[in-house]
Amino acid sequence: MELLYKSTRGGEEEVTASQAILQGLAKDGGLFVPNEIPKLTITPDKLSKMSYQETAYEVMRLFLTDYTEEELKHCIKSAYDDKFDTEVIAPLVKVDGVYYLELFHGATIAFKDMALSILPHLMTTAAKKNQITREIVILTATSGDTGKAALAGFADVPGTRIIVFYPKNGVSPIQEKQMVTQKGENTLVVGIKGNFDDAQSGVKAIFGDRILEEELKEAGFQFSSANSINIGRLVPQIVYYVYTWGKLLESQELTEEEKLNIVVPTGNFGNILAAYYAKQMGVPIGKLICASNANKVLYDFFQTGTYDRNRAFILTSSPSMDILISSNLERLIYRIAEADAKKDRELMEALTKDGMYKITPKMQEQLEDFCGYFATEEETKAIIRETFNDTGYVMDTHTAVAACAGKKYREETGDKTKMVIASTASPYKFTRSVMEAIDAEKYGDLGDFALVDELCTLSGVTVPKAIEEIRTAPVRHNTVCEVGQMKCVVKDFLKAE
Ligand SMILES: *Cc1c(COP(=O)(O)O)cnc(C)c1O
Repeated sequence: MELLYKSTRGGEEEVTASQAILQGLAKDGGLFVPNEIPKLTITPDKLSKMSYQETAYEVMRLFLTDYTEEELKHCIKSAYDDKFDTEVIAPLVKVDGVYYLELFHGATIAFKDMALSILPHLMTTAAKKNQITREIVILTATSGDTGKAALAGFADVPGTRIIVFYPKNGVSPIQEKQMVTQKGENTLVVGIKGNFDDAQSGVKAIFGDRILEEELKEAGFQFSSANSINIGRLVPQIVYYVYTWGKLLESQELTEEEKLNIVVPTGNFGNILAAYYAKQMGVPIGKLICASNANKVLYDFFQTGTYDRNRAFILTSSPSMDILISSNLERLIYRIAEADAKKDRELMEALTKDGMYKITPKMQEQLEDFCGYFATEEETKAIIRETFNDTGYVMDTHTAVAACAGKKYREETGDKTKMVIASTASPYKFTRSVMEAIDAEKYGDLGDFALVDELCTLSGVTVPKAIEEIRTAPVRHNTVCEVGQMKCVVKDFLKAE
């Protein structure tokens, strides 16, 4: 049976999965959602014996119904290979009675690799299926993690080009080095003289430029998006929650009757929404614990039913969660509004206009699967330090926010259900914050790569290839432009060959 997708705002015809992936965002500004969430058809026993790749096929075939078995298996095989530093792809590590689901073993050592290593394959396959012969140009604005993961995913993928804009003075030194050393003839990385919002607005303006669109069409190009609103990023993220359940059954850490709680460090609400979809599919998830840093818009939302972005934007040590508009929440809003696109549109328009909206009590009742907790900067540091001192396990700042939320949840509720924490980045990606959390006096004055070596000694974890590579890698991208020049930079790059 074919599963079709429609916009949360109701202004568009139903499309196939491959069309939704090609398009990214619906034309009415809404997000694509499946008409229903399919149920897992496999027995827990069979699931428990499956590899990551087999689980991926089992889950993705139910969502991406217009891909053939051969196409999907090819995409999966090309994505989850030795780009990951472990055969199990997403290992589960038990520390102090909780399970850390390590999602950072891919090419750029953040969880974005879980979806962005397969998205390019899904997209080029979608282009073929829909007889698109033009080259696909991926435009991305990034504050650090998404840009690098998208570059790594799309580098040298035939039929695609990728252009990434980042705020020249707004990313960490390691993040910048990772991006400007990117290989691949089809890649372009540009620093802009502005902040992340400027980069994002510039990219949106290019997307909305109909004259440019026509010009590029004639030259054989069309734009697409690799950001987290693309359904082609969400579906691959469901896989690791299903896989985790299988592995917990296999190792007999969990019985078939038992539930598990999941804690997710949240920014754009993509990762936790994937866990929610996994629950709808039949994974016995109890609570979905949404962890925020000091930008606690979502915590407040789950407390009160009011989403209010009118507040100061706080820069924290978990920058990938510094966000006040969680785009993917719209998919949950649509669902709890019982697929009422009109209601969804009304609330999203209020968000644009007033920066806030309030859901109805009836909608709020349907949020009981979720609960929100947040961690302050001090609490985040403390849990990194304490966990290291007690167990020797070193976690990154984003994971620490989740660990803290999980701890607060357990203390407050007394719920002893087994708990899985989504671990979204390697500590090597945020070495400075992590090392300073462990011992600010000792490590405060060291340089970035000296800290990398100290972390290696401390944790006994080999320095990932992603970090080793950038120590000596030559800089390949040094374009810097004004915000107003972004469109020219895009046109120049596409004319170059
Ligand atoms: C992107 C990111 C997050 C937030 O994930 P969402 O899907 O946007 O909620 C958390 N941690 C890290 C390290 C990230 O890169």
